[in-house]
Amino acid sequence: MNTPSHAIVNLALLMNGRSEAVLPVIIGATLPDIPMFVMYFWAKRIRRQSEAKIWSETYWQPHWQQVVHLFHSIPLAAIAATLAHFLGWQWLKLVGLSAILHSLGDLPIHNHDAHRHFLPFSQYRFISPISYWDPRHHGRVVAWVERGLVLVISIYLFPHVDFWVVRFLLVALNLSYLTGHFYRWVFQGCLRTQAQPQSSQG
Ligand SMILES: [Zn+2]
Repeated sequence: MNTPSHAIVNLALLMNGRSEAVLPVIIGATLPDIPMFVMYFWAKRIRRQSEAKIWSETYWQPHWQQVVHLFHSIPLAAIAATLAHFLGWQWLKLVGLSAILHSLGDLPIHNHDAHRHFLPFSQYRFISPISYWDPRHHGRVVAWVERGLVLVISIYLFPHVDFWVVRFLLVALNLSYLTGHFYRWVFQGCLRTQAQPQSSQG
């Protein structure tokens, strides 16, 4: 899923009406994709690489893959959440739980770019027949399902979040998802080159 979608889904599942849970849930939902943002920033802004080179070469270098996959490790996030639970660190526990949900969300919708979600205990990758972005693996349909799901959850969340900044982000994100897709669908035939997944892919 795209990173903001993880944050919205996780808020719906973990917030439970507690406004103090909003920040740790959003941080945990974003954390697994942080290495990807760092890689993208380094490649794009510092090395001045093209989108095609970033997503067909740089992203696939072993050291970047290792860091990205470690941040998507379910057992590592579970260990952190369990430790935090027994130490009474509710904030860190929510970060860990949210990171686990992020990986569980990624697991069924990644094809050749699947993460090794069970590091450091296993190198296993689940190669899903569907992808959240790749048109060769139903990426267009999955993208619409993701955006529909985010819209429905946002409508549910809107009255429950006290923060106006979060409400603003909910509206802005849905508008960008829906108008961006509408624009591509109508004017570009929903084209999406295989070598250029979205920078916020995760
Ligand atoms: Zn991810």
